[in-house]
Amino acid sequence: MFAAGYELAQLERLIQTQGQRLRAQILAQLPGPASPLPLHAIELGTDKPGLPTVLFVGGVHGLERIGTQILLTFLGSLMQRLGWDPHLQAMLSGLRLAFVPLVNPQGMAMGRRANANGVDLMRNAPLEGGRVTPWVGGQRLSARLPWFRGHGELEIETRALTDYCRELRNKSSLLLVLDAHSGFGLEDHLWFPYACHHQPGREIARIFRFWQLFEDSYSHHCHYHCGPQSAVYRTHGDVWDWLSQDDSPVPLLPFTLEMGSWAWVRKNPRQLFNFAGLFNPQKQHRHHRILRRHTILMQFMLELAHSRLLEQLSPAELAGFREQGVKLWYPELLP
Ligand SMILES: [Zn+2]
Repeated sequence: MFAAGYELAQLERLIQTQGQRLRAQILAQLPGPASPLPLHAIELGTDKPGLPTVLFVGGVHGLERIGTQILLTFLGSLMQRLGWDPHLQAMLSGLRLAFVPLVNPQGMAMGRRANANGVDLMRNAPLEGGRVTPWVGGQRLSARLPWFRGHGELEIETRALTDYCRELRNKSSLLLVLDAHSGFGLEDHLWFPYACHHQPGREIARIFRFWQLFEDSYSHHCHYHCGPQSAVYRTHGDVWDWLSQDDSPVPLLPFTLEMGSWAWVRKNPRQLFNFAGLFNPQKQHRHHRILRRHTILMQFMLELAHSRLLEQLSPAELAGFREQGVKLWYPELLP
């Protein structure tokens, strides 16, 4: 549907034309076929320390172009609204928004999942899972096979993204993340750590409260299956697992959105003959629908972070939500 390089060009055009309304930086320069490919980060809203941050990440897997596209569409809409919407302007005086819409520009330019070294950036964190799902959980044998983790060193993209997340977390009161992927199954999934083991993490109470508020507030938009990634399959651990293990007083809630793109294939089986079609909707009306489909969730994340509700839960509330989260997502761990 779009030529290679479309998303990077769109992102750079947005930085050029909206430069006064946002703060842009280049987290890393990656070798490209003609010239280096930049890994861009964009921020808008406040830059005062001690306030909440929402971070949107996309394009970790080069084939999953729709993730980058929904973020650029949302960002473009925010930039337009900033010109006239006093509610959004006021919200952004108490909220930092950050976007890393294209983590793997090499992979996207080459039309492949991995980066130029053949490394799957969701398998590259320095973690060793226990009972990992064979193959899909990650392998160290060869860059020619899928799900290659690398030989133990961090890729430039992994380093740049995790350094940036730590920097954001250090200056925030809360870091809420949505990392947009596509290609797994028929339904939209919303996964949270851990991918490397099946134990509730430190933020299970706030994650439960997040999900409960979304379900209660937008009951007609609950097409997501929300749960720990380990309930579906296990990897050696991704960047979100790794960052969740940091010793920081700032709550980190990272969600991986897996858009169920196989549903698009079912409706249009000819997509099977086009490899990109497994990961991206090919028909225009469906493409537009997918670009709209996650706006409510992204807008909810802004409103919830700005409300600071998740930061203000009392120890008793946290204990109660933790219990409900374990009951919902880890029933087998209950006595
Ligand atoms: Zn992916």
